[in-house]
Amino acid sequence: MPVDYRAPLADMHFIVHQLIPLSRIQTLPGYEEVDDDLVNTILEEASKFANQVLSPINWTGDQEGCILEHAVVKTPSGFKDAYQQYIEAGWISLAANPNFGGQGLPASLATPVNEMWHSANMAFMLCPMLTAGAIEAIEHHATANQQSIYLPKLISGEWAGTMNLTEPAAGSDLSAVSTKAIPNGDHYLITGTKIFITYGEHDLTENIVHLVLARLPNAPAGVKGISLFIVPKFLVNADGSLGPRNDVQCASIEHKLGIHASPTAVMSFGEAGGAIGYLVGEENRGLEYMFTMMNNARLAVGLEGVAVAERAYQQAAEYAKERVQGKVPQKSGKLPILHHADVQRMLMLMKTQTEAMRALAYIAAAGVDFAQKHPDEAIRQSSQRRVDFLTPIVKAWSTEQAIEIASLGVQVHGGMGYIEETGAAQHLRDARITTIYEGTTGIQAGDLLGRKIIRDDGVEARKLIAEIEAEAQACQNHTDPDLQLIGHELHKATQALAKALNWLLTAHNDQPQATLAGAYPLLRSFGILCGGWLLAKSALIVNSPSYSGQNGFASQKKASAIFYTHEVLPHVVGLVQTICAGADVAKAMNDGLADLMNP
Ligand SMILES: Cc1cc2nc3c(=O)[nH]c(=O)nc-3n(C[C@H](O)[C@H](O)[C@H](O)COP(=O)(O)OP(=O)(O)OC[C@H]3O[C@@H](n4cnc5c(N)ncnc54)[C@H](O)[C@@H]3O)c2cc1C
Repeated sequence: MPVDYRAPLADMHFIVHQLIPLSRIQTLPGYEEVDDDLVNTILEEASKFANQVLSPINWTGDQEGCILEHAVVKTPSGFKDAYQQYIEAGWISLAANPNFGGQGLPASLATPVNEMWHSANMAFMLCPMLTAGAIEAIEHHATANQQSIYLPKLISGEWAGTMNLTEPAAGSDLSAVSTKAIPNGDHYLITGTKIFITYGEHDLTENIVHLVLARLPNAPAGVKGISLFIVPKFLVNADGSLGPRNDVQCASIEHKLGIHASPTAVMSFGEAGGAIGYLVGEENRGLEYMFTMMNNARLAVGLEGVAVAERAYQQAAEYAKERVQGKVPQKSGKLPILHHADVQRMLMLMKTQTEAMRALAYIAAAGVDFAQKHPDEAIRQSSQRRVDFLTPIVKAWSTEQAIEIASLGVQVHGGMGYIEETGAAQHLRDARITTIYEGTTGIQAGDLLGRKIIRDDGVEARKLIAEIEAEAQACQNHTDPDLQLIGHELHKATQALAKALNWLLTAHNDQPQATLAGAYPLLRSFGILCGGWLLAKSALIVNSPSYSGQNGFASQKKASAIFYTHEVLPHVVGLVQTICAGADVAKAMNDGLADLMNP
């Protein structure tokens, strides 16, 4: 049977208190009250909720799935009740704006809490996650009147939100959006079909607030002609009560590989003449507005990767402790598979990469807090540049690794991993979507290379590499030989990546395909390097005489850094070789696929 989820509180506390550390967040205006007691209480209570309420309906929700009947989606057993408990406990409003009923807590604290929800029940958590995206879009771009109508209900969780971007011909390329919006008095009439809409229809809330991208008549072609609209499922009366049903229906829900408990809907707008929609912000600026919230949504999906990887690790670790098979050299009798070196290798790959991904996701969240709250404008801007740089890495690296980690989880189970009952397969199936939605890995890699590196002439990339190099030097100068080794390998990786960066910055004008061929290897190398950096930093912290952590935590964390240094970090050098061979790689791809491209 699937293993219950237990929040990795020791690691979460370590990152929040030591690596970020929380004392820096407490210096930010508005966060002075976020003290150790508050953080400890919130993490403790969240871990209980994740374990007792969300985790038990994860596997059953997957097996049962959602049902569409008479245009209404029924979520799996227990979901409605869990959602009620979730909003009554105030979990949904943790980081939301206090002006509209939120608790205004920092992203540095909301992030570990959100990780717990995603780990405990990724399909459930997609509903609050999409609502958070809608809240952000409305908070940043809607009128005061629209904010007063929608934000309190979304922040309390009474209503849910969705993001309606994708259409059959407009996936990664949203310039092709063709849903229409016709001006009609104080509102617009929306007609068109959106596909793959997460929680587009469900029975968890009394109303659903759809944020919809659509095109006005005579709007400019492409991305500059897309506007953003609020289209509520039920119209809202002047006194805030629910009015008549709007002209928007769920046409069908998808049968898909994973996240079965999360309804993925085809939404039909305007079959009876036009769904009533309200413009958000200015006409034709919808995509730009969407991007302000998409960046945080991308960090949230990266965190999903961390979360599902953690869950897969816990499942595999428990199985490895129980399953007895074969003999182990120099040990007598038959032992659990945990004792086999190869199983240990797989478990440590799962564990250390998850720790590295978690550290990076939390550091990015701390960057969001600094970018939003620091009193010094220059620090706000430099923090935002760092967050912007890390966002595609957190999104794509953590999710690509999550799939590999969940796959290792299946492997640790042997044949039982391939059988649904253990729950290991669900994590692999669930993880698979994370590299696709909120911008595929290809889109993230292009973003990192094009917008974050080339457009910036490599300034932020070099700044980050220099910081990592400083950490490598600190490790190399340490008296501890393990730390020296970690520092030495980290230094090799920074030198290699700096070389790749130079090549890309020189070659991109004349050889665009050759540089783009290296976009994903580049993103992956940055992910691996950042993971190595943060584990090295962690090893330095736990090695310091002043560190007083829980029993065994320090030696395990140091072991994580050493293992990662030997097993994962060396990949950077190989990836850099691939990047710098971009011209040859691009030619080989063209030649190799010539029969497809020139039939
Ligand atoms: C379960 C699920 C839930 C979803 N939830 C939502 C939701 O709530 N709201 C919503 O609006 N959408 C949602 N989506 C849609 C999702 O965001 C899109 O599937 C995604 O953006 C990719 O678009 P596509 O499927 O059309 O793939 P395509 O864009 O056709 O991409 C196919 C392949 O081509 C590559 N590719 C395309 N363009 C480029 C490029 N410029 N450079 C490099 N590679 C490229 C991609 O990386 C990918 O590998 C969801 C999808 C799924 C499956």
